Amino acid sequence: MESFFRVVNLKASIDGNLILKGLSLEVNRGEIHGIMGPNGSGKTTFSNVIMGNPKYEVVGGDILFKGESILDMSTDERAKRGIFLAFQYSEEVPGVSFMNFLRLAYNSVNSYRYSDFVPPKPLEFRNLVKSKMALLDMDDSFFNRYLNEGFSGGERKRAEILQMLLLDPELVIMDETDSGLDIDALKVVSRGVMEFKNERNSFVVITHYSRILKYIKPDFVHVMIDGRIVKTGDHTLADRIEDNGYDWILKEVSYGV
Ligand code: ADP
Ligand code: MG
Repeated sequence: MESFFRVVNLKASIDGNLILKGLSLEVNRGEIHGIMGPNGSGKTTFSNVIMGNPKYEVVGGDILFKGESILDMSTDERAKRGIFLAFQYSEEVPGVSFMNFLRLAYNSVNSYRYSDFVPPKPLEFRNLVKSKMALLDMDDSFFNRYLNEGFSGGERKRAEILQMLLLDPELVIMDETDSGLDIDALKVVSRGVMEFKNERNSFVVITHYSRILKYIKPDFVHVMIDGRIVKTGDHTLADRIEDNGYDWILKEVSYGV
């Protein structure tokens, strides 16, 4: 069986500096993978390369999604095929209402997926959004706001998880979703994720701290150092990193233990 998401010896650079130095990862449907690593190890670079941010150049290896290389696809096409990067839209977009933004994204993804897709009527769409908002403790005032304008950290994350619930992606990449979240917001976000999670979709949760992995329980935890995955374990690896930091892993790697 072909694997669902496979990264093979990926090498990528920015402004001529090689950051990802041979990263390999395999994710099956229904799995949650945590990727942890010290600052500067290349985690954000990795999520940007998965989504096809043109600032990064892939100089080796491949990324396969449902058996097909995605390297030549635009960001938009990757999203339509079912990859979702939490934060890809987290800039403020003045003049675009949150509701319009959601509707455009929803219609675009679904017309790609279903040839007979009929865009929902405004009221219908509003009710669909409302049902998802209830899961995230969001109130109706979001309807009339502009995308991310004046959103607090917690509101931004809720808005992103709401997008995820609506777009129903197959592969979700989260980069540092926990940073800047208080514990209540973190719980709400994690609850949204666990509600959405099923045996068909997969998550790659990238984080510096193990905090979020207590709520979003990973099947595997990988440690990324200097642009490579150097160690893989189960969720207990996250606990060990929380207690002991990364130094012991660096030692293991440099002594080839
Ligand atoms: P992480 O998310 O794990 O903290 P990043 O992917 O953000 O790591 O960064 C990885 C490395 O890439 C860092 O050492 C950073 O300094 C470097 N880097 C990021 N942007 C640039 C750039 N424009 N030019 C050169 N190096 C960069
Ligand atoms: Mg980062």
